Order: sequence, then C-alpha cells, then structure tokens
Amino acid sequence: APILELKGIERSYSEGEGRLTILKDAGFTLRPGEMVALVAPSGAGKSTLLHLAGLLEAPDAGEVIVAGQACGRLSDDARTAIRRNEIGFVYQFHHLLPEFTAEENVMIPQMVAGMDPAEAKTRASQLLDYLRVGHRGSHRPAELSGGEQQRVAIARAVANAPRVLLADEPTGNLDPKTAGYVFDALEALVRQSGLAALIATHNHELAARMDRVVTLEGGKVTAWKR
Ligand code: ADP
Ligand code: ADP
Repeated sequence: APILELKGIERSYSEGEGRLTILKDAGFTLRPGEMVALVAPSGAGKSTLLHLAGLLEAPDAGEVIVAGQACGRLSDDARTAIRRNEIGFVYQFHHLLPEFTAEENVMIPQMVAGMDPAEAKTRASQLLDYLRVGHRGSHRPAELSGGEQQRVAIARAVANAPRVLLADEPTGNLDPKTAGYVFDALEALVRQSGLAALIATHNHELAARMDRVVTLEGGKVTAWKR
C-alpha cells in the first residue's frame, strides 16, 4: 500500500483581482522505500506540493492520505500528530536552532515526542555518525560548514523515524561537490531505513539517481520525459 497519496488536489492563490491556479486535479503516489525526484521550474508549485503532502497547508479540494489515513477531515491535533510521527522535512536552508548544538538539534524533536533524554541522545549521536558528522555533534550550527549543517538537518528530519521524508532542494544551497557528498549520505540513509522520499531538486544528476522523476505540468504531477 502507498505510504503517501495525493488525489484530485486543487490549490490556487489570490493574485490581484483573480486566482492563480498552481495545482489542478494533481495526483501522486509514494510507496514505502521509494525515492522520487520532483523536478520542475521555479514557480511551478514544488514547494506548494511538498507543503500539502506534509500537512503544512490544506488543499482547496482533494485529499492527502498518509499511511492510509485521509487527513482532510481530521482535527488539527490529529493532523499534527501524523505530521510529527510520519513525516520528516528537509529544506534548502537548514533551519537549525542556533543556540543549540548539532546533537541537541537532533534530540529536540524526539524529546518533544516524549522520548527519554538519554535515548534521544544515543539516537542523535548514532544518526550524526551515520551521516558522517558525528565528530561535530557538540558544535553549534554557525560553527559548521554548509554541508555539515545539511547533514545535521537530515538527521533531525529522521530523528523520530518517520516513514516519509519530504525535501525541498536539500542540496540547493551547496556547491556541486558538497551537494554530491550530502546526497550520498541522504541516499544511504533512505535506502538503509526503507523511508519513502520525495525530493525537489534542480540537480539533474542527483535526480537521475532516484527511482523515478516527476514534474509539474498544467497543475498535474506527471512522469518526467526527456
Ligand atoms: P516552486 O517551489 O516550484 O518554486 P512554489 O510552490 O513556491 O513553486 O510557488 C508556486 C507559485 O505559487 C508561485 O507563483 C508562487 O509565487 C505562488 N505562491 C506560493 N505560495 C503562495 C502564497 N502563500 N500566497 C500566494 N502565492 C503563493
Ligand atoms: P563541506 O561543506 O565541508 O564540504 P561535507 O558535508 O561535504 O562538508 O563533508 C566534509 C568533507 O568530507 C567533504 O569535503 C569530503 O571531502 C568528505 N566527504 C564527505 N562525504 C564523503 C563521502 N561520501 N565520500 C568521500 N568523502 C566524503
């Protein structure tokens, strides 16, 4: 069964007097273990699609189904619980909390979810090691390189063992060589954990390493052809 499904999604924004339609009858299915690239020009609606998939905003019409659960009619609390348990986010900019260390940044979502601090610390340290940034755990974000900051952000995104990872240009702020290394780490983690990932990227080389590439055309999610 799919872990994430979008059906008949409509999303428009007000623009001057009228409406700008971004998504129109858009559908998308992500299966466990699948790694899918979302490649489309700026302004096509990639971030909008990821926000809808991650239950951060609501569609005007249509349904987002996470782990078999249709989320449209749920209470805000129920939706928040699904987002916290099932979905991890990585953005182009790390959004780590500047006053905490790398390890603490990875511990925080686990502690919010009620995990014992000692367990959270162990898991954070293991994840940082796995992402090859374990030696930087006691440093604050400002002391880390761009690649290291993104590795920590990836560790934080998966700290609560979500089943879906949504990433919006996760290597978009890095030079090509660093982007490749950070993607290596992300890919290894996804493959090892059986996570399903939807990753928006402009990097065609990285997109080609994923299982499928999709794009946005006329407000719909379609297979990338080239
Ligand atoms: P992408 O991530 O592909 O660059 P976005 O999803 O960010 O595209 O944006 C798609 C379009 O929707 C853009 O034209 C953008 O200006 C518009 N848009 C996005 N969010 C909003 C919003 N909250 N209000 C109004 N317009 C928005
Ligand atoms: P930076 O932003 O400092 O380049 P990276 O996240 O790329 O940070 O990691 C630091 C360094 O570790 C890299 O410059 C690279 O030389 C090395 N490195 C990281 N990941 C790998 C890898 N998968 N294979 C080989 N070397 C790697």
